[in-house]
Amino acid sequence: MSKTIAINAGSSSLKWQLYSMPEEEVIAKGLIERIGIADSVSTVKFKGQTETETVDIADHTQAVKILLDDLIRLNIISDYEEITGVGHRVVAGGEYFQDSVLVDEKVIEQVEELGLLAPLHNPANAAGIRAFKEILPDITSVVVFDTAFHTTMPEVAYRYPIANRYYKEYKVRKYGAHGTSHQYVAQEAAKILGKPIEDLKLVTCHIGNGVSITAVDGGKSIDTSMGLTPLGGVMMGTRSGDLDPAIIPFLIDREPELANAEKIRTVFNRESGLLGVSGTSSDMRDIIAGQEAGDHDAALAFDMFVDRLKKYIGQYIAVLNGVDAIVFTAGIGENAPEVREAVISGISWFGAELDLEKNASGSEGIISKDDAKVKVLIVPTDEELVIARDVERLKKS
Ligand code: ADP
Repeated sequence: MSKTIAINAGSSSLKWQLYSMPEEEVIAKGLIERIGIADSVSTVKFKGQTETETVDIADHTQAVKILLDDLIRLNIISDYEEITGVGHRVVAGGEYFQDSVLVDEKVIEQVEELGLLAPLHNPANAAGIRAFKEILPDITSVVVFDTAFHTTMPEVAYRYPIANRYYKEYKVRKYGAHGTSHQYVAQEAAKILGKPIEDLKLVTCHIGNGVSITAVDGGKSIDTSMGLTPLGGVMMGTRSGDLDPAIIPFLIDREPELANAEKIRTVFNRESGLLGVSGTSSDMRDIIAGQEAGDHDAALAFDMFVDRLKKYIGQYIAVLNGVDAIVFTAGIGENAPEVREAVISGISWFGAELDLEKNASGSEGIISKDDAKVKVLIVPTDEELVIARDVERLKKS
């Protein structure tokens, strides 16, 4: 038995999950928030208990130290040596990484270099990797990329119809994201459907704060809605998704201070989506409550969100030239029957029809009617488990 830790580092947070492998049993999990901000909070959950500690944490190295100290202090491990592997989730792998890899200095430098594609995430991911290398230099250390699953996309899908030189010089192309999640739920869906994944055409819908839709043909991603960065595709919590690109110069003509990369990124990444349209919240629970209370802007935000999901699912049914199942996952996909019902009832022509009771109960598995031509499923995502499995896989190689 060995213990493997899966790490998901954000700009000011570090989420972790400790597994006993190969049993795939979760021993403990936790979250460190407000790194680099006063009153950082470390939460550890294990054996049904939750421990919370407030302490100033300056950076990711210190966060990793606190997390490892917590594991010993709470008797979850008795010695650092018990941890034999660590897997780090990295958002952008660019064209360098088609699969998870063992960490070395070059890999860390490439992750840092790819910060241009994921400025909010990759620098934090690299800091987490360095912190573990410093404290536990000898354990198996693996990086798992959100983009790797999408490297099977054909050129026709990943290129943008702009001058070639932007691709040649700057690698401006679609990379997608949420790859570990799409891959995991596609594999789980095949198990639930009792068919080899090679025989299935699936549309997987990861609908959380970030939202992405993927066309999975025979287990391979052939197109996905996020683009060069996670801003592209469908409408999200605070991100716009696809727009007419002329909106940007149009706004700059009217508000010249927007002619600044950071400002324009903020407008479309942090002030748009459900938040921008509702004017009140990026959280789907608030949007549904607002809609039920008769708030016009919340209702419009809900309807636009559903409309964009339907359009992408429809596109991917066309790209796949058919579909066996539509899979819902992540915070909204797993927990909001209202969204699933609105999306599926709007595309029933394709042969998908929900069993409304199963949809309302929200349990994992098939939620379409028994005789529906296209199955609809809820599959809870588990990105941390994919990370832990990849550490095991690369340890043996
Ligand atoms: P992230 O992309 O940050 O990992 P999650 O996958 O946790 O996000 O999804 C967060 C979203 O899930 C939020 O919009 C939240 O409102 C939504 N959500 C969570 N639970 C429910 C629920 N019971 N009903 C509707 N929406 C929910």
